[in-house]
Amino acid sequence: MSSQMTVHVEDTDAHLIAARIVMPLGAAALATTASNYELDHSATPWLPPMLVAGMRKNWSIAFDSPVDSTALRGASAAQKVFLDWHPRRFHEISVSAKPFDAMSDGRGVGCFFSGGVDSFYSAITQSDRITHLIFVHGFDISARNEDLAGRALASARVAAAELGKPLIEVKTTLRSAFGDRLLLDWGYDFHGAALAHVALALSRHLRTVLIPSSNSRWDQVIWGSHPDLDPLWSSGSVTVEHDALDEDRLGKLRRLGTDETAMKHLRVCWENRDGRFNCGVCVKCIRTKIGLAAASAESVALPGPIDLDAVSSLLLTNRDCHHLRNGLAAMADAGVTDEGVVAAVDVAIRRRHWRQARSYLRRVRSVTIDFMQIRRRLQVGDTVR
Ligand SMILES: [Zn+2]
Repeated sequence: MSSQMTVHVEDTDAHLIAARIVMPLGAAALATTASNYELDHSATPWLPPMLVAGMRKNWSIAFDSPVDSTALRGASAAQKVFLDWHPRRFHEISVSAKPFDAMSDGRGVGCFFSGGVDSFYSAITQSDRITHLIFVHGFDISARNEDLAGRALASARVAAAELGKPLIEVKTTLRSAFGDRLLLDWGYDFHGAALAHVALALSRHLRTVLIPSSNSRWDQVIWGSHPDLDPLWSSGSVTVEHDALDEDRLGKLRRLGTDETAMKHLRVCWENRDGRFNCGVCVKCIRTKIGLAAASAESVALPGPIDLDAVSSLLLTNRDCHHLRNGLAAMADAGVTDEGVVAAVDVAIRRRHWRQARSYLRRVRSVTIDFMQIRRRLQVGDTVR
């Protein structure tokens, strides 16, 4: 039998919502979300993040105020998706809440807008539909990093104004006060539900919210925001859409390369080394620079040539290797191959293979030692008998 987590929605002012979450052993967390727009004060926006946390921890959830009935049905379907993806890591849980049918005046179409490749692509290509862009402080930029958040917000404000859209500004502690505290994996488990929380919180203004895709339909991986999952977070008031499955990142960069606003304000870096907006030397920055080179585009947000020393010293994942190889192939297709970059990527990929081989050998050695110890003990046992 699972333990129970209770969610109590606090009384707050129009621009702030807060939930006090009491966990099974009595520890409590207070998560808050604030915006320059009025927010939905029902318990509904808290359902997606609580569901993911409950399923990871095997805690049932009790809401002490009503939750929208469409969102509750969607959460039930979302449980099936998570259990199908991760049958050992996630648990089927019960959600207890009084259902109600949400009615809202929201008519707008919002789109999450971090200033990255995916969000710029959706903002530009869906511009006819989009009425608002949504910037969130507290997700990819830590809620505590006020300086970097301030610069990212200032850039998003200018970009939104140039794109002709009002910017909804949101600041939340959902990740820092709750998700990180429970050690929920941001990328694989939690970030889609956290975005859905913000989308549902904007029900007074928005009827539809677009989550820009991370991957095209041909390159799908199990990930916290996914076309099979995101729409299930919809409520009776807000429809959540996963946008732009028909274009991969290189294709998106080709489109953005022709857009002056995107080239001025692109923000792709999550590492922000030395507090820099785009550090230029992490794998995300280098991938983007290779993609821009393949598109024969230049961005003042990522200036200068590709740093070959930084490329050759990258510590890559298998997926990074895949992306970098695709980037080099796109450069070759475009006839702009740079042999220095090819050689530097080759060094980084070889190091990845060497690290994998070393880790494999270490595991084989460890299993062999275990096996020899067991055999020795059995032999000693035989001798004693
Ligand atoms: Zn970077």
